[in-house]
Amino acid sequence: MRRPSAALLALLLAGVSPAIALEGPAPAAPAAPVAASGKPRVVIVATGGTIAGAGADAANSATYQAAKVPVDKLIAAVPAIAGVAEVRGEQAFQIASESFTNAQLVDLAKKVSALAKRDDVDGIVITHGTDTVEETAYFLDLVVKTDKPIVMVASMRPSTAISADGALNLLDAVTVAAAKDSRAKGVLLTMNDEIQAGRDTTKRVNIKPSAFFSQWGPLGMVVEGKTYWFRAPVKRHGTASEFDIDTIDALPEVAIVYGSGNMHPEAYTSAVAGGAKAIIHAGTGNGSVAGYLVDTLKDIRAKGVQIIRSSRVGDGFVLRNAEQPDDTYDWVVAHDLNPQKAKILAAVALTKPRDAKDLQRIFWEY
Ligand code: ASP
Repeated sequence: MRRPSAALLALLLAGVSPAIALEGPAPAAPAAPVAASGKPRVVIVATGGTIAGAGADAANSATYQAAKVPVDKLIAAVPAIAGVAEVRGEQAFQIASESFTNAQLVDLAKKVSALAKRDDVDGIVITHGTDTVEETAYFLDLVVKTDKPIVMVASMRPSTAISADGALNLLDAVTVAAAKDSRAKGVLLTMNDEIQAGRDTTKRVNIKPSAFFSQWGPLGMVVEGKTYWFRAPVKRHGTASEFDIDTIDALPEVAIVYGSGNMHPEAYTSAVAGGAKAIIHAGTGNGSVAGYLVDTLKDIRAKGVQIIRSSRVGDGFVLRNAEQPDDTYDWVVAHDLNPQKAKILAAVALTKPRDAKDLQRIFWEY
């Protein structure tokens, strides 16, 4: 039985800290290359979300406030972490993840990149809300140039709920971040005993602890405190990425327009008026564009705004030049990226001007 006991949860709620080393932000170097204990050193960067949520009613896990419990209390609630790694916490933000802005994404990535460069950091865990953790994971995967494990973690139930999932998810995330065999696997998400690729995973269910899914399957699992791996990421990330957060200070606007029957051109033209440098068309089926919208999208492309065809369908991937002649229209396809991940990749790619051909290359490679 690996779930945290009611006594532990009570400790958390009472604000009592079990014996575990908690520090504020680390001083700058010099750093010891190996911890005195011999254990891996893991920094837990907290950003808020339900994993830091609290509610008054244990039976009603949907009625709570996200982003309430500070990182030191999150760590203190899981004493088993101290058996796995030397951890310290840093509170980056205390927000629900639907409120993340581009500026906060950039900020977080710079912080994570700086931590990854330190000799006294072996792995990084980032606590996050589930709503947009897939976007943050993919962003960090693209722009943080490191082979050290970076592990996102979240929970579907607040710490005050019966059978809260955050404590075990956090322990598992630290286990993954501390494991040597987690290196160079891209940014990961550990939840519900699974190790998901940050690039591939998406929130598929909004009401169950088994909320995250990848159509290509998880990379591995954490079972009884051990990592087990079943596949490796094949797309460019980390040290193999051409993108580097140390050279990125802001992200351009990218809009998503959701496809359906009876669309209105204004959905696209108002996105352009709002400053979008690219539009992710979350089209029906194979990222299809209604015949009556083609001229609008061609006009928008002629103004220099990129048109990227993704799909509102959860699985599969968009084929280029199928129903729509992308070569003729100078459009891009998002390959297997869902619209929100395509938005992240487009924003990163368009931090430099580039033509649709080069943008399409990026959508094949990342
Ligand atoms: N709205 C919350 C968030 O994303 C939901 C969660 O964490 O599960 O911050």
